[in-house]
Amino acid sequence: MPPKFIDIGINLTSSMFHGVYHGKRVHADDFSHVMQRARRAGVDKMIITAGNIKDCHRALEIAKDDDELFFTVGCHPTRCSEFERYKDGPDAYFNVLRAMFQDPATKSKIVAVGECGLDYDRLFLCPKETQIKYFEHQFELAEMTGLPMFLHDRNTAGDFARMISENRKRFKDGVVHSFTGTMEELKFYIDLGLYISINGCSMKTEENLKVAASVPLDRLMLETDGPYCEIRTTHASFKYLEAMTEEQQALYKPPAKNKERFELGLTVKSRNEPCAMGQVLTILAHLRNMDPDELAAICYKNTLRVFFPEEAENAD
Ligand SMILES: [Zn+2]
Repeated sequence: MPPKFIDIGINLTSSMFHGVYHGKRVHADDFSHVMQRARRAGVDKMIITAGNIKDCHRALEIAKDDDELFFTVGCHPTRCSEFERYKDGPDAYFNVLRAMFQDPATKSKIVAVGECGLDYDRLFLCPKETQIKYFEHQFELAEMTGLPMFLHDRNTAGDFARMISENRKRFKDGVVHSFTGTMEELKFYIDLGLYISINGCSMKTEENLKVAASVPLDRLMLETDGPYCEIRTTHASFKYLEAMTEEQQALYKPPAKNKERFELGLTVKSRNEPCAMGQVLTILAHLRNMDPDELAAICYKNTLRVFFPEEAENAD
């Protein structure tokens, strides 16, 4: 039996899970197969990452009939221009987000504010000043709801760290997802009481691996960030996947085909999906010289504590 996982960052609203890439249909819709593979591989809950109003509505559609699916509500840094382009203005955009947290029909499905933060790698999608302005604004949602923040930080030269520390009193818990920072940044966030979530992108280089192996166990969470951040042969982490047994291979890294040669029931090369949680676990367990089941249980518990506190109490 595989250990239990919660994929805390999965972009299930992506059209790639329906066979559509960059607006073009490439293969048949295999969303239900993705979900089946996830469950078989021990992924029991998933937190769908929503990054704008449209995403939030889509996430709700996906999550509403499935007891184990949840989602975030917020605006991604690369999407923050939407506040200003919104037909009734930025306040109206903000109010739509805020209303989702208050709506009895959606409330129970929303487990975090986000994803929000800063991303200076993709300033062409949204200028710095706009990102900062609306990141700042979203702390209000965390303040209002008491929910944890699902945070995104890319190449922000200290701006993200500064904003987090300035606003630290406004939110209880926060997770820096898809963490790719330095040892110093890791220490800074840990000192601020944040959690760190690791995926394939967090383990590309030898330096990344050292940082990933140093996240304190009581602050560690796992995610795939699918369909992005798959673990590639060129990544420093890849060699550790050899440690997987045949059974684990079948669950966590099942046979794949290029999207152009798609076969229903197989995975798609370079489209990451939640069944790969076990790959992230295998690598981290190896790096930390730990029993994978034990490590999975720790991450699971951390995740319950932050995103599903009622369940965490029952589990104790
Ligand atoms: Zn992100």
